[in-house]
Amino acid sequence: MNARLIDGKAIANVVRTEVAANVACAGFTPGLAVVLVGDDPASAVYVRTKDKAARDAGIEARTIRLPANADEIDVVGAVRKLNQDPTVDGILVQMPLPKHINALVVIEAVDPAKDVDGFHPLNVGLLTEGRPALVPCTPRGVMKLLEVAGIGVSGARTIVLGRSSIVGRPMASLLLAANATVTIAHSRTRNLPAECRRADIVVAAVGRAEMVRADWIRTGATIIDVGINRLPDGRLTGDAAFAECAQVAGAITPVPGGVGPMTVACLLENTLAAALRRRSP
Ligand code: NDP
Repeated sequence: MNARLIDGKAIANVVRTEVAANVACAGFTPGLAVVLVGDDPASAVYVRTKDKAARDAGIEARTIRLPANADEIDVVGAVRKLNQDPTVDGILVQMPLPKHINALVVIEAVDPAKDVDGFHPLNVGLLTEGRPALVPCTPRGVMKLLEVAGIGVSGARTIVLGRSSIVGRPMASLLLAANATVTIAHSRTRNLPAECRRADIVVAAVGRAEMVRADWIRTGATIIDVGINRLPDGRLTGDAAFAECAQVAGAITPVPGGVGPMTVACLLENTLAAALRRRSP
């Protein structure tokens, strides 16, 4: 392996320790509420992880559980109650919601000042304008990884594979705000390998196991692999073929242990930021 490994787990631990230290001297206890609808096992695991991470950082965490047959009015009602609750600084609605609930309606019900996922249209608009407020946790985590790993973004040629609202689009906005030259690729992009080969930094957020191959990567480029895919044998893998890409890249994140831990760490940062902002005059 030639590439330097960007250790997301270690960097996330530093971020989490910093948040805990800042919470300890904040003079108040920030509150995070997670709304979990239904009994999707993967969602339950994610929620438990976030809950534990928040508690470890001194944040008061609670989970509001609603049954799978809850309707949109029930979920919006739960969110509005949290909007009014002065002990709650951050609200996160765990996705995906059951199919009969319109996620956009629920996201729009969240008070933008408590929107620690950064999905509310107001926060999306601010980010697009280059005036970030609360920024989606995964792209924020990617920026932090690049910063700590000393990968220069300003002026760099970057490509974001994927254009979802959760990862691809906010990722592109953050890179642009950091003065990168940004290409956004998606399922209709022609000749994706050639587009990738031009990039100094490749952020892969597609959800296709090992799609990015070594011959897509310019020698010395950085690969940030957001993808989480389960192989038939049960192993987790990213969107990049790690072993072969690591021969060509200059730096690469592993899966697991790369972007994933940063997402949780940045949720804690967002919660503290929302709490501080709400209390500032
Ligand atoms: P989505 O399915 O919402 O979006 C996938 C994007 O990839 C779409 O824009 C799609 O294009 C594009 N795409 C799909 N196939 C191809 C292809 N063959 N070539 C080029 N582009 C393609 O996924 P998410 O953004 O929610 O998640 C992406 C991955 O990141 C998943 O593996 C997910 O598990 C992971 N993830 C990891 C997180 C973490 O903390 N590490 C957090 C969130 C997600 P189009 O728009 O044209 O359909």
